[in-house]
Amino acid sequence: MTNAVILGGGPAGAAAAITLLQVQVPVTIIERQPFPRYRPGETLHPGIEPLLNQLGVAECLHAAEYIRHSGVWSAWGEPIHFVPYGEDSDGPWRGFQATRGDFDRRLLESACHRGATLIEADALGVLCNSSGDVTGVMTSNGPLTATYVIDCSGGSHLLARQLQIPIVRHSPRLVARFGYVNGKFDGPAPAICADETGWTWIAEVEPNRFQWTRVTEAHNRPDSQWLPDGLGALEAEPSRGADVTWRMAEKVAGPGWFMAGDSAVVLDPSSSHGVLRAIMSGMMAAQLAAANHCIAAEAYQEWLSTWFQHDVETMSSAYRMANLFGFSSVP
Ligand SMILES: Cc1cc2nc3c(=O)[nH]c(=O)nc-3n(C[C@H](O)[C@H](O)[C@H](O)COP(=O)(O)OP(=O)(O)OC[C@H]3O[C@@H](n4cnc5c(N)ncnc54)[C@H](O)[C@@H]3O)c2cc1C
Repeated sequence: MTNAVILGGGPAGAAAAITLLQVQVPVTIIERQPFPRYRPGETLHPGIEPLLNQLGVAECLHAAEYIRHSGVWSAWGEPIHFVPYGEDSDGPWRGFQATRGDFDRRLLESACHRGATLIEADALGVLCNSSGDVTGVMTSNGPLTATYVIDCSGGSHLLARQLQIPIVRHSPRLVARFGYVNGKFDGPAPAICADETGWTWIAEVEPNRFQWTRVTEAHNRPDSQWLPDGLGALEAEPSRGADVTWRMAEKVAGPGWFMAGDSAVVLDPSSSHGVLRAIMSGMMAAQLAAANHCIAAEAYQEWLSTWFQHDVETMSSAYRMANLFGFSSVP
C-alpha cells in the first residue's frame, strides 16, 4: 500500500498531506519546529482561495478574519497608482494579509485532523536502496520507510543537498531585508515601489502593524537599521534578511521522491506568489504520488519547469520595465 512521508509542515507540506489524505494515502509529516512558528510572507494572492476550497480548508482561513485587499498600489517606473487584482460576477477578487504563523498552523492542524501523523523531529536525510531510489527518511527519532518522500523543507533545499542535485540560479544574487513596525501609517498599502537599486513593499498585516520588505542585489543591501520612507517614526522590530535569488533544483522529482514549495523553486516575493506556489506544487506532487504512475516524476518536472520558466519571463520583463538588477541589458 502506498504511503508518504513529508519533510516540513509549512504550506507545501500541509497541502500535500491533505491531498494525499483525500485519496486515503497514509501520511507522516516530519516538522522540526513547534507551530505556530515564524515565517515572513503575509500577503496571499486571491488565487489561493480556490486552492483552499479544493483542500476543504477555506473555512479556517475565513474564521481567522485576516485583513483583505483587492489590489496593490504600484510605483514601478511610473507614478504610484492602484492595480486591482480583477473581478468577476461575485465582485472584486481579494487577497489576504494572513499572519503566517497563524495561517500555517491552521493548515497543519487541518492536515492532522484529517489523519496525518505529525512527528516533531529533524529530518536528517533520505534512505535509498541499491538502485538509488528513495525509500524513506532518517530522522532524529530514527528511520521511517515510505513509498514516497515529498520534500517540503523550504529554502534550505534538504533533499537537493542530500541527493547532490544542483540548485540553478536564474537571477543575480538578490537579498531581502524585512521587518515590522507598529503604529499608524497613512501611506498607501499594500504598495510596491521601485527605485534605482531595488524595490520596497509595505503592507498592513494586522491593524496598525505593518510588514516591510526591501529587495536589492546583494551589494546594495541596506543595513539592519534601515526603514522605508514614512515608517521611521513608528515602533520598529529588529529586521531580518533572506536570500531571494531566483533558483530551481535541476531535478524536482525522481523514483520515490518529489520536491514542492521553496524546496524546489524560489523566486523573489515581488508577486506575492510564494505561498500559492507552495500549496499548488504540494497538491500536484501529492496527486502524482497517489497515482503512483511511472511517468509521475517526468510529468511533475515538466509541469513545474514550465511554470517556473513562465514566472522567470514575466518577472524579467517587469524588472526590465523598472530598469532594475541589470535586466535592462538582457535581450
Ligand atoms: C521576505 C519575504 C517575504 C515574502 N513575502 C511573501 C508574500 O507576501 N506572499 C507569499 O505568498 N510569499 C511570500 N514569501 C515566500 C513564502 O514565505 C514562501 O514561499 C513559503 O513560506 C514557502 O512555503 P513552503 O511550505 O515551501 O516552505 P516553508 O514555509 O519555509 O516551510 C518549510 C518547513 O519545513 C521545516 N523544515 C525545514 N527543514 C527541516 C528538517 N530538516 N526537518 C524537519 N522540518 C524541516 C521548517 O521548520 C518549516 O516549517 C516571502 C518570502 C520572504 C523571504
